[in-house]
Amino acid sequence: MNIKKILRRTASIITITAICLATVVSYAPAGAQELTAEEIRDKISQIEKDNEERRNELSKIEGDISEKEENLKRASALLGEQKQLVDYYYNLVYYKEKDIDDLQAIIDDLSAQIEGIEESIAVAEKNIADLEADNADNLVKFAQIIRTMYTTDAGDMFAVLAGSADFYDLMVGAEIMGNITEQNQIFMDKLQSDIKKLNSDKKQLETDKATLEERKAKRDANMVTLLDEKAELDALVYDAQLAADDYQQDYDIYQAELDSLENQQNNLNYLISVGESDIENYEEQLKQLIIEQTQPDKVYQEGEWYWPLPGRSYISCDFGYDPWLDRIHKGIDIGDAGIYGDDILASKGGTVIIAQSSYIPGYSYGMYVVVDHGGGYTSTYAHMSEVYVYVGQEVEQGQPLGAVGNTGYSFGAHLHFEIRLNGEPMDPFDYVSMV
Ligand SMILES: [Zn+2]
Repeated sequence: MNIKKILRRTASIITITAICLATVVSYAPAGAQELTAEEIRDKISQIEKDNEERRNELSKIEGDISEKEENLKRASALLGEQKQLVDYYYNLVYYKEKDIDDLQAIIDDLSAQIEGIEESIAVAEKNIADLEADNADNLVKFAQIIRTMYTTDAGDMFAVLAGSADFYDLMVGAEIMGNITEQNQIFMDKLQSDIKKLNSDKKQLETDKATLEERKAKRDANMVTLLDEKAELDALVYDAQLAADDYQQDYDIYQAELDSLENQQNNLNYLISVGESDIENYEEQLKQLIIEQTQPDKVYQEGEWYWPLPGRSYISCDFGYDPWLDRIHKGIDIGDAGIYGDDILASKGGTVIIAQSSYIPGYSYGMYVVVDHGGGYTSTYAHMSEVYVYVGQEVEQGQPLGAVGNTGYSFGAHLHFEIRLNGEPMDPFDYVSMV
């Protein structure tokens, strides 16, 4: 959807990176290069202008970011809901498959029962066929006996009987005939009865089979319904998953856009911090320049130096090497509790050569004042909350220059106080005494 946008943004990031490198090169204060105070001020105001533009761009990007974050949040919510829906349908499919498996087991069981009955029917049919064969055999044999009797030399059966030697013979012959007939009748009756029974059993089996088949047919119909329902659920899962994929795609796009914006944000923040650090360096350079270029014909008035904060005596950081911060501390820090807003007094009379009332939070001296006392001597009063004087102003010893504050590189209200001779930091306690 927004591939073009992403590409465009990527391109703009590359441009910013290029500017960044150029920025670093062109703004980096070169130690060897001797700049005039005017040139340094121009550079500082140029960096401030650039940073101002960057801050404007940054606030626009931050607006875009919060918009994208909203989009992302919405996309994430939609995606979450859709995933839940997919899970819900998957769950339904799971239970439907379970129903199908259960029904299949029932159908398999019915099929097995039907098969069993079919086997029983086959056995019954075979038995019936065997008995009917026996019956047929028996009839043939009986007919044989009868035919043999009729076809003896004596002519016919009556002839057999008539040919008997005596009445006793006749009686025996008749009895034999009768027995044969009777035995055969019993045998035949039993056969018929067995066949009848088997046929009745077979009929019962067929009825049972029909019942089972009817039940199975119902289950088969149920199975068709279940399979249809499952197919519908599968379709729902498929559609829901497609929608979830779409939402995922939207989410990924918003995420990529957000990442890109955050990259731009990081880039700008980096450039701004580089600019601020450059400003800090230039201001340091400017300050050195001003402090070193004290008015050459200004006469130094011998005599005592005043303690700039009468009644305040807590030294939170001494002059000289500070092992905690691994740096040379160029002055002393006076940091009594409740000191914020106290008037800071000029340690000696002189001309104000720096009265800095704008500052970058977290950097350098913050608001500060430098007074030129002549003879190469200057005093510096840093981290003020207010500046009372202006550059070029002549101040008297003990005159308030500003108020104690916490501006610049400072963690709690304190006065950073320096005395320099020809730009070199001196230990203030070599000049002033606490009062
Ligand atoms: Zn300090």
